[in-house]
Amino acid sequence: MTARDWHADRDAVFERDAYTCRHCDAVGGDDEPTTLRPSPVGDVPLEGEVHESALVTVCDDCFGTLESDPSTDAVESDELFELVRETTGLQGATISDVAAFASLATSLPATLESALDEETDTDIDDSVSEYRRARRDVLLAIAIVDARLERLAALQSTVGPEIRVSLEAFAETATELQSTLREVVALGETVAAALERCQGCFDGVRASAGATCATCGLTVRETADWRDGDGTLAFDRLFATINETLQGASETTETLTDRTMALAEQLTAQ
Ligand SMILES: [Zn+2]
Ligand SMILES: [Zn+2]
Repeated sequence: MTARDWHADRDAVFERDAYTCRHCDAVGGDDEPTTLRPSPVGDVPLEGEVHESALVTVCDDCFGTLESDPSTDAVESDELFELVRETTGLQGATISDVAAFASLATSLPATLESALDEETDTDIDDSVSEYRRARRDVLLAIAIVDARLERLAALQSTVGPEIRVSLEAFAETATELQSTLREVVALGETVAAALERCQGCFDGVRASAGATCATCGLTVRETADWRDGDGTLAFDRLFATINETLQGASETTETLTDRTMALAEQLTAQ
């Protein structure tokens, strides 16, 4: 199976995203020099027709960042400093996006309930597309930071021993932060699954172990851990865990800031 064995309605994806790269905001389309591509996010199976909810519009440059093997060519210390600075900035922005996604996800039960009460389908549709978009954006942002960290990891062997120690410490904390962010996203997705919705496309799904969404092919997130003895969903407990995990992310961010500064001092002293 190769990456080319899947297909998608590219134009529908581009149109939905207003022909704009969801990472860097570069605008493409027929009259623009920027080439756009649909890029898959999340764990949707890459075969046959991939559902639009699992695809995000990116420009060629951002696609390259995501897909290319990191170069191991040595860089100057100012270039390395710039890479670290950019990665930290991107990760900081990702934390805000993940927090916004978490807040959107935790408001889903109330949003759906009030929309159902008032029988306003448009409100539901708006909330659903907002959820889907926010989820795609955070998954893309996390993947871009992953790619940056891979690039930095590839450079570790090219720097002197003192800088390598600091770079490794930085990378270790940044990687820990990445997994915390992924955990928050997974917990946010669990809210959708708890509402018997697919965490990706948000279509209705059966809440049974290992169920697959008929629309997009995702394996629906397990909710068993979040059910009380009588089977009701313990949203309070789920929401509290989301908040605690986000709190953990902000503590890791403080450590990361210290490690970034230590590295920056060494690099600028070169
Ligand atoms: Zn881009
Ligand atoms: Zn789905």
